[in-house]
Amino acid sequence: MKAVTLIVPCYNEEEALPIFYKAICGVAQKLPEYNVSLLFVNDGSKDGTLKVMKELAAKDERVTYISFSRNFGKEAAMYAGFCNAKGDYVAVMDADMQDPPELLPEMLKILENDEYDSVATRRVTREGEPPIRSFFARMFYKIINQISDADIVDGARDFRLMKQEMVKTIVEMGEYNRFSKGIFGWIGFRTKWLPFENVERVAGETKWSFWKLFKYSLDGIVNFSQAPLSIASFTGLFLTIVSFFAVLFVVVRRLIFGDPVAGWASTVSIILFIGGVQLLCMGIIGQYLAKTYMEVKKRPHYIIAETNDDTAHRVG
Ligand code: UDP
Ligand code: MG
Repeated sequence: MKAVTLIVPCYNEEEALPIFYKAICGVAQKLPEYNVSLLFVNDGSKDGTLKVMKELAAKDERVTYISFSRNFGKEAAMYAGFCNAKGDYVAVMDADMQDPPELLPEMLKILENDEYDSVATRRVTREGEPPIRSFFARMFYKIINQISDADIVDGARDFRLMKQEMVKTIVEMGEYNRFSKGIFGWIGFRTKWLPFENVERVAGETKWSFWKLFKYSLDGIVNFSQAPLSIASFTGLFLTIVSFFAVLFVVVRRLIFGDPVAGWASTVSIILFIGGVQLLCMGIIGQYLAKTYMEVKKRPHYIIAETNDDTAHRVG
C-alpha cells in the first residue's frame, strides 16, 4: 500500500483545522488503497492551533505534528514538512480549505500512471480577492517569467502532489531564502497542471498583508533572476554615454558661443536625477548582498520545539 503524506503549514488556524481534518478524513475514506497521513506544521501560532493538533494526534495515529519554536514563515514550514515527510507521495496543503481536498484522488490517479512526477494546481479565477492584489499578482507573474528561468505559472498554488524523489531534490535545495514556487519550477521534473476555481477561506483570515506579499514577490525576483543587477549596470552605462555627449555639447557650445552662465535649475535636477539613480542601483546591489549574507550564515530554516515524531529532524 502506498503512503501519502499531506503537509499542512498552520499559523493561527485553530478554527480552520478541525474543518480541514474532517474534509481530509472524508477524502481518505474514498482512497482505501492508500495510507493517507497528515503532517501538521505549527508555525509558531499564537492561538490554540497546537492544542488542536495534539488533540487530533491523540485520537488519530495518522496525525503527526511538528511545532516550531517561533513563527518562521510558510516557506520554512513547508521545508520542515518536506524534510520530515515519509510518504511515497507528498503534498502541501493550506489549512484553510483553499486547496480543495477533493482534487486529491484525481491527482493520485495522474501520478499512478507514471507519466508525471508531480501534479500542481493553479487558480484560474481570483474571485473574492481584492482587485488591487490580483492586479499586482498578475504583474508579478508576467515580470518574473520574463526575467528568470524558473517557470512560474500564473495563479500557481503551493498545493501540489509529488513523488518522494522530487521531494528529496527539494530538500537538497537547501537555500536559506526560499521561494518554493520558483524552486518547484527550477528543478524541472514532469509536472501536470490542474486548474481549479478559487475557493474562499473557511475560517480565520489571511496571514498575508499587501506589504508582506509585495516583499515576498521581490524575494522571488531577487532569488530567481539577476535581471535587476543588469538593469543597474545598463542604467549606469547609458548615463555614462549620455553624460559624455553632454560634456562634448557644453565644450563645443563654449568654444562657439562663449559662456553665458545659465541653467542652474536644470543642473540641479540633473544632479538629483543621477543621485537618485545611483541610490536605486546601490539598493539593488544591496538586496543581493543582503541575500548573500543570509545565505553565507547558513542559519537553519526552522527549529522544532515539540513533536510527536521521534525521528524528526529537530533543526533543519
Ligand atoms: N502560514 C504559515 N506561516 C505563516 C503564514 C501562513 O504556516 O507565517 C500558513 C497558513 O496557516 C495557511 C497557509 O500558510 O495554511 C496559507 O496562508 P493564507 O491562507 O493566510 O494565505 P493566502 O491563502 O491568503 O494566500
Ligand atoms: Mg489561504
